[in-house]
Amino acid sequence: MADFEFDLFVIGAGSGGTRASRVSAAHGARVAVAEEYRVGGTCVIRGCVPKKLLVYGAHFAEDLKDARRFGWDVPDCHFDWTVLRDNVLADVDRLNGLYTQTLDNNGVEIFLEHATVTGPHEVTLASGRKITAKYILVASGAHPHVPDFPGSDLGITSNEVFHLNALPKRILIAGGGYIANEFAGIFNELGSHVTLVNRTDVILRGYDHSIRDRLLQISITKGIDFRFHTDFKKIEQLESGGFRVELTKHEPFEVDCVLFATGRVPNTRGLGLAEVGVELDDKGAVKVDADNRSSVDSIYAVGDVTNRVQLTPVAIREGQAFADTVFGNKPHQVDYSCIPSAVFSHPPMAGVGMTESEAKNKLGSVAVYMSDFRAMKNVLADRHERALYKMICDGTTGKVVGLHMIGPDAPEILQAAAIAVKAGLTKDAFDQTVALHPTMSEELVLMK
Ligand code: FAD
Repeated sequence: MADFEFDLFVIGAGSGGTRASRVSAAHGARVAVAEEYRVGGTCVIRGCVPKKLLVYGAHFAEDLKDARRFGWDVPDCHFDWTVLRDNVLADVDRLNGLYTQTLDNNGVEIFLEHATVTGPHEVTLASGRKITAKYILVASGAHPHVPDFPGSDLGITSNEVFHLNALPKRILIAGGGYIANEFAGIFNELGSHVTLVNRTDVILRGYDHSIRDRLLQISITKGIDFRFHTDFKKIEQLESGGFRVELTKHEPFEVDCVLFATGRVPNTRGLGLAEVGVELDDKGAVKVDADNRSSVDSIYAVGDVTNRVQLTPVAIREGQAFADTVFGNKPHQVDYSCIPSAVFSHPPMAGVGMTESEAKNKLGSVAVYMSDFRAMKNVLADRHERALYKMICDGTTGKVVGLHMIGPDAPEILQAAAIAVKAGLTKDAFDQTVALHPTMSEELVLMK
């Protein structure tokens, strides 16, 4: 390894790259990482973390209203976006510092600049410096896709949304995935008028249909305006500062902000990968084997840039598996079965394992159990919002193959229940567990 300046050069200090860097260094490798924006990556700087803090901030709108039913004299409250925004951004700065410190403490050399791959063992930094390494790990993540039509450059993406100068009175959110629905919930709770625009009438494709239908129904009741089966014709800037939006099959309307949440594209453009022989798929993602190795032996890739499962805990596991396998003499591969996921909407939803339709296609015989209930707190608060829990079991063995829920704290509850699903427990094992009363999660062991 002495012929190379480093044993490992990592491109991207996000979830996957940071984990791979620090664990490889702890295994004794000489590691360097290049980061062109901020150490921490999407999740910490402009994804999961600031988003979840906005979700907490937004939910106070309901909590403050409900508190009156619980006897609290809550005066009329006013929301100040700049206070929430600045506190969230300060926390992001804190985390950025912590991530940098962790890399420093592990002896990882950080280059705060853009890097490109210029050989199987060589990267070139924006400054022009060339660095050699025995292995290169591409952990460059993904970026928001913005559709191409007249005026689409007037919109923003999740990269900019955390920095808005003011809360938009009217916001159009394009997309039907989790990021679109989460921001629709956030802005709606904070008092913006939200219009969600989608090409189809399916939101949250891939989630169980009963759960996503319930979210749609609750979101409509809460005032989110959905426009389905439509496409953008154009967006024009108005003198008032707002925008005039023209969609197919709808009358034009005005908004103050357009947010595109229309998918994420792997960051491989201009990275030099194809030039050195790294195979990319038709979406530009790095093709890797189960050990995260690309078609070039010395180049590996983890996280969103491989477009397998675009979630932080998955990128982290891939980074860990890479470091343990290549430098730690502890080879292992990531197990992609039963990955839990959540949508931090209002109320949130979460799921693990197969949806009802997936299970029917795969297993043929399935048993479905449901609990459709109003959380005790919502009853007293006079909030007409029902939770729904759904358990999918193998019709032959009784094994729980999927668990899906929407309701208060669903992601917190599902993380614990996902252990049982991953362990392959049966419905019977759930039934034998005594309920913890009064909770919402007791519905998990009482499902009929
Ligand atoms: P990233 O974390 O994106 O890191 C890649 C890094 O590489 C970036 O910092 C980038 O600047 C850097 N980089 C790229 N190219 C170069 C280059 N050429 N040279 C130098 N540096 C480069 N996931 C969840 O699990 N839960 C959530 O609740 C959740 N919420 C999300 C909300 C939003 C709004 C978004 C956008 C994403 C969310 N995600 C969530 C997804 C999650 O953020 C990603 O899956 C995760 O960050 C992927 O990690 P990564 O290491 O692959 O890439």
